[in-house]
Amino acid sequence: MALTLSEKAKAVKPSSTLAITAMAKELASKGIDVVGFGAGEPDYNTPDNICEAAVKAIHTGFTKYTPADGTLELKKAVCDKFLRDNNIKYEPSQIIISNGGKHSLSNIFSAILNPMDEVIIPSPYWLSYPEIVRLNDGVPVFVRAGREQGYKVTADQLRNACTSRTKAVIINSPNNPTGMMYTKAELEAIAEVVIEKDIYVVSDEIYENLVYGDIAHVSIASLNEEIYKRTITCNGLSKSYSMTGWRIGYTGSSREIAKLMGSVQSHQTSNPNSIAQKAAYEALTGPQDAVYTMKEEFKRRRDYIYDRVSGMKHVCAVKPQGAFYLFIDVGKALEMSYKGNKVENLATLARQLIEDFNVAVVPCDDFGFPDHIRLSYAISLQQIEKGMDRIEAYLETLV
Ligand SMILES: *Cc1c(COP(=O)(O)O)cnc(C)c1O
Repeated sequence: MALTLSEKAKAVKPSSTLAITAMAKELASKGIDVVGFGAGEPDYNTPDNICEAAVKAIHTGFTKYTPADGTLELKKAVCDKFLRDNNIKYEPSQIIISNGGKHSLSNIFSAILNPMDEVIIPSPYWLSYPEIVRLNDGVPVFVRAGREQGYKVTADQLRNACTSRTKAVIINSPNNPTGMMYTKAELEAIAEVVIEKDIYVVSDEIYENLVYGDIAHVSIASLNEEIYKRTITCNGLSKSYSMTGWRIGYTGSSREIAKLMGSVQSHQTSNPNSIAQKAAYEALTGPQDAVYTMKEEFKRRRDYIYDRVSGMKHVCAVKPQGAFYLFIDVGKALEMSYKGNKVENLATLARQLIEDFNVAVVPCDDFGFPDHIRLSYAISLQQIEKGMDRIEAYLETLV
């Protein structure tokens, strides 16, 4: 037997955003003032009350194994949260606490997929979805939703994409990278297809608290009993409470699915960090003012960044309703020339922006849209302003 390696592992695509991030870091280390729009996490510290709960957990010896799928205390808090915020009724036996939202997604697909099962992924999509599906032996099936339809798939598109192999569809609202949200009516139409085709819906609601008032967040599982049975609701503490480093995610699902996810997790990671679980309990049950403050600030930034980009040449964007990203169509800019050469593709555009204008943006080839970039506004308003001036200056030079 030769020393071969796993074909599955070798097929995982390394993230294309890393090249730009590395270049931004290198420039910054040389003392160059780089504006980074790449951040995929809130720029706030974890609120004090949450940190204190963690310190207390350490000092009171809450530093041992917990049940592999999370403490009963935290599961109960998650049930209360689901009922209070999402109008979904789950019992603790339907909750699995994991090591972050991404880990929850991985658990979900390990519990529902058999080899070659298809998972419908509306495109643009968060770049980890197809990789997580493939790692669990599934086949991603992309359904394109362009700017003309607000980057949201329709129920009819989903119906047409279903085959006898379709196992699930992923809905992410508010969305990364577009910031778009599905309305209640749109979710109702999607739910009808899911029930008709008898498939699962994986509802990634990690950005539910970062919504800016245009559309209310609705959890698809709350719509009716039939869709409830077919939904796995996925969420986590990372984005709402600025707890990306703590690694706590959770799911609500049928008992059957929860049981499978629990057994998989019990062998893969055992329990999520005990200290982080105490912190998560405080986050979900303690005062929520920090969430509100953060959201208000994000709303100010969204309004500013959207207005600025709307006024720029050769690009266009749809106003985001949630999350902290602006998804920009740069298709026209790619057709134009910079310093005598056609820009042509996102890698070139991103390189010109970072090298000549010191702005880092995320090229969205790996999000399914090779003519869009993503800007995160999880940076200060002053930084956003400076970055906008630079991007505008770049676009002005294109002919
Ligand atoms: C950030 C994010 C997650 C989860 O992140 P974790 O850090 O693993 O909790 C899940 N889905 C989307 C779309 C995200 O952007």
